[in-house]
Amino acid sequence: MKTICREKDRILLSVAQMGGAEQKYVQEAFDTNWVAPLGPNVNAFEAALSDYLGGRKPVVALNSGTSAIHLALKQIGIVNGDEVICQSLTFIATAAPITYLGAQPVFVDSEAETWNMCPVLLEKAIQDRIEQTGLVPKAIMHIHLYGMPAKMSEILAVAQKYGIPVVEDAAEALGSSYAGQKCGTFGEFGVLSFNGNKIITTSGGGALVCATADEAKKTMFLATQARDNAPHYQHSEIGYNYRLSNVCAGIGRGQMEVLPDRVARRREVNRLYREILNGVEGISLQTEPNESFYSNYWLTSILVDPSQTGGITREDIRLACEAANIETRPLWKPMHLQPVFKTAPFYGNGTSERLFDQGLCLPSGTSLTDDQIHYVADVIKKIILVNQ
Ligand SMILES: *Cc1c(COP(=O)(O)O)cnc(C)c1O
Repeated sequence: MKTICREKDRILLSVAQMGGAEQKYVQEAFDTNWVAPLGPNVNAFEAALSDYLGGRKPVVALNSGTSAIHLALKQIGIVNGDEVICQSLTFIATAAPITYLGAQPVFVDSEAETWNMCPVLLEKAIQDRIEQTGLVPKAIMHIHLYGMPAKMSEILAVAQKYGIPVVEDAAEALGSSYAGQKCGTFGEFGVLSFNGNKIITTSGGGALVCATADEAKKTMFLATQARDNAPHYQHSEIGYNYRLSNVCAGIGRGQMEVLPDRVARRREVNRLYREILNGVEGISLQTEPNESFYSNYWLTSILVDPSQTGGITREDIRLACEAANIETRPLWKPMHLQPVFKTAPFYGNGTSERLFDQGLCLPSGTSLTDDQIHYVADVIKKIILVNQ
């Protein structure tokens, strides 16, 4: 199978890898002239996703993960002036839809084990918001960073205690599970993304995992311009144009056939890095805390502690990789440090700032060869060992 590579020889962070059946389904869409939005590929893709997640929850395919977050918050009833609690250490797509609805994000720091939302700080933040505003925050948005499941039992316990719905951003975690349950199925809503760099892709796309058939129906309604049931075009509320096209869903159908292989390979890539970097002082990897946590290891990520590497920093390693034509990337810059959110409330403990300072995502695509992984890990090892 030929893999897509934008630059020859450069080792990229995470590239799309087709399985083989995608073109067949896309061709079907053309042969039947189902190139419009909706159609058989969309239905089959949604059914495959729902099955994969355990079959209990309906899934609606959308044109992006960001749209899915927007529709989740909209259906929870977030409106102008509401507060929504959001994990700070994430990609901006988790937080941006809060502001689309005129609401205020309240950022919460991570715990050091999974790098996800700290349940202790979450409760502190809720209590403080109640004290400050007299109101309970309207929703909790958390993620599973680079595929690592968050501490779901603890987060859900806090959410239940205060009666706050959880939106689970599982955009990076398709294939991950916690206590045997698939990520994306814990929240009132679950969010998936099929952007080009995710574990599977539709070139661009997303999905909303819903709790009930009614919610799924409402999601489809809002995603297709909120059209009332009438022969003419009639609208009683404002909707969006967020559905996935039948052509893109054909890619998704093919990708679903290889998803288990993709998860296995990402985990194997992670295992190999772990083996090679084992014992290198000052380098640690994001790691499953115990058997309850099963990560798809979408991106293998390391921390570089300069006090143990003889002064070598994350940035030194990033630049050494760059010189060796290897693409790496610092962890997401926390939202509370983003200029656009500088006035948003933040409940912190220093963890996400330290992770951002020390963290680096390594090339983790499923089409990487073992030799390429050895090459990347050796570049990292060399710069540290030379210095010690
Ligand atoms: C990729 C991603 C999204 C958004 O997905 P799009 O499909 O690109 O809109 C949301 N949240 C997180 C954490 C992501 O990594």
